[in-house]
Amino acid sequence: ARIVRLVEEAQGSKAPIQRLADIIASYFVPVVIGIAVVTFIVWFFLGPPPSLTYALLNFVAVLIIACPCALGLATPTAIIVGTGKGAENGVLIRSGEALERAHKINSVLLDKTGTLTQGEPKVTDIIAASSSSEEEVLRLAASVERNSEHPLAEAIVKASSEKKLKLLKASNFKAMPGHGVEAIAGGKQLLLGNLALMKERKFSLNGIQKEAERLFGQGKTVLFLSVNSRVAGIIGLADTIKPNAREAVEALHRLNAEVVMITGDNRRTAETIAHEAGIDRVLAEVLPENKEQEVKRLQDEGRVVAMVGDGINDAPALAQADVGIAIG
Ligand code: ADP
Ligand code: MG
Repeated sequence: ARIVRLVEEAQGSKAPIQRLADIIASYFVPVVIGIAVVTFIVWFFLGPPPSLTYALLNFVAVLIIACPCALGLATPTAIIVGTGKGAENGVLIRSGEALERAHKINSVLLDKTGTLTQGEPKVTDIIAASSSSEEEVLRLAASVERNSEHPLAEAIVKASSEKKLKLLKASNFKAMPGHGVEAIAGGKQLLLGNLALMKERKFSLNGIQKEAERLFGQGKTVLFLSVNSRVAGIIGLADTIKPNAREAVEALHRLNAEVVMITGDNRRTAETIAHEAGIDRVLAEVLPENKEQEVKRLQDEGRVVAMVGDGINDAPALAQADVGIAIG
């Protein structure tokens, strides 16, 4: 019901250009009717007989030829057809204004996770440092992630239940958006997050960096698990790009739009995925709260920006963009 209402509202909403058309029409109509009346009077009193017939014919002729209908009707009709066609294809257009602005878009910002990719990461690699085992790495990671609702967390918990691992009770859970999560479990201080987080905390990488680099090169998201400030292992997760992502990017390029990918993920992972999708500009390692700023920066460069995201941690960016496109 809300979707139907949204479409109806959009169909009834006025595009800015329509307001201009309405203003012109408000002068145009009386002027045309005035001219028609004058035509009638002139033909009736000064024209040849039968004067009433000629006067009426010419009166109607003026009205038909100067018909302001097209001016007043074209824009609303275009909006109704446009939003209707969009709805048929599963695209809900919020307002006529958004529709009008959309043709000026020259930068399209795409969120990575869930927008370009399926948004369902799967655990593909588990690598343990010499001090630990693969099973232990997954068990500890899942014990922490059980408290998070991030798609990466879900993937890790799912992998652990597939292996029927018994999880530990975690306390003092804390999520750091765009970085990772931490908690205490089994008497150990556990931290699971990206490379940036490990570097920020100055944790020793325990010689595991090389393996991580290899996974980055495969476009995988890599999470580092640290136990009591030492890295105990890494988990690689793959999220495949949507089958039509490349095609969509190509279509945007044909419209001369610059396509940019924005993500909180590691730069190398992001670049691999972007390359697969045919995207040339990448904004990586952007914290959720900074996505909005990146949109603003592009706008300051004088670009008309469309932001495409799933609306989960990019809602402010969607709102800041000239046209926000939420998918899901
Ligand atoms: P995206 O921009 O792709 O939607 P996010 O901003 O949600 O990504 O997250 C960026 C990065 O922060 C992830 O790639 C991951 O490294 C880290 N991260 C975020 N949440 C978690 C979590 N619950 N567990 C582990 N790492 C996380
Ligand atoms: Mg996201």
